[in-house]
Amino acid sequence: MDIKDNNYIWLDGKILAKTAANISPLTHGLHYGTGAFEGIRIYNGRIFKLKEHIDRLFLSAKILMMAINFSIAEVMEACQQIAIENKVSDGYIRPLIFLGDENIAIGAENKVHLMIACWKRSSPYLKTLMEKKALSLKISSFIKPAAESFLYSTKASGLYVLNHIAKKQATSKGYDDALMLDYRRFIAEATTSNFFMVKANKLYTPIAECCLNGITRQVIIEIAKANDIEVIEKYITPAELGEADEAFLTGTVAEINAISSIAEYKYANNPVSQLLYDRFYQLTQS
Ligand code: PMP
Repeated sequence: MDIKDNNYIWLDGKILAKTAANISPLTHGLHYGTGAFEGIRIYNGRIFKLKEHIDRLFLSAKILMMAINFSIAEVMEACQQIAIENKVSDGYIRPLIFLGDENIAIGAENKVHLMIACWKRSSPYLKTLMEKKALSLKISSFIKPAAESFLYSTKASGLYVLNHIAKKQATSKGYDDALMLDYRRFIAEATTSNFFMVKANKLYTPIAECCLNGITRQVIIEIAKANDIEVIEKYITPAELGEADEAFLTGTVAEINAISSIAEYKYANNPVSQLLYDRFYQLTQS
């Protein structure tokens, strides 16, 4: 990710140089993660699933009891504007809402700020999915809590501390990412992407209870169904990973990323993943 390509940001209705943002060190969001964000791709000058992402940002805001001072249409327009301002036609857009610095107390009624950044990130089409590095995953020792306390339908900033540490733990042991289990020890998701596996040409993915119901996840399920691939959403145990023929992750950044191994299980041959990858790519360019 070339975050240094981001020169301008949109902050509370104004476009300014990133260096002029002047955010206080006493920002509530900085101390407690009281905020929420989105990650959005722009392909060929077209923002992919923009409405779905901004709707999810507003849903996060509602659940976090943070009123955004702009309409959905205004935020969508601001995303377009900031991509143009940074001259990005293939890249990543990062909207973030966060509580301001008026009061440091937990439960404070601070101003809700909205920032949008954008930077270049290309996604060249690869003939075979295997040309993109397949990932080795560690099953994390950190587990995902019950849905009552973890706000899974949001992308709340504070939730990402757990994912951050799970990923750091995995990479420090030589893996590419962590696959996290939920509190019942079913597969939940990776640190910034959803999990899928293929068994006997059928697609399996965890029920979206203790994971984000990712926008890419939903797109992949639709593509699979449209291509007569049966999709089974179920509780998946770690032992079932050994029965899979293929496994991959999905997400805005990952798009579709093949998995080469999870703990002792290895995956190589991936015709179903390849088909989904090809169709997904066509969709991003259409
Ligand atoms: N799970 C987590 C924890 C994530 O952060 C993301 C990235 N937003 C995803 C799954 C994939 O979601 P999406 O396809 O909407 O990017």
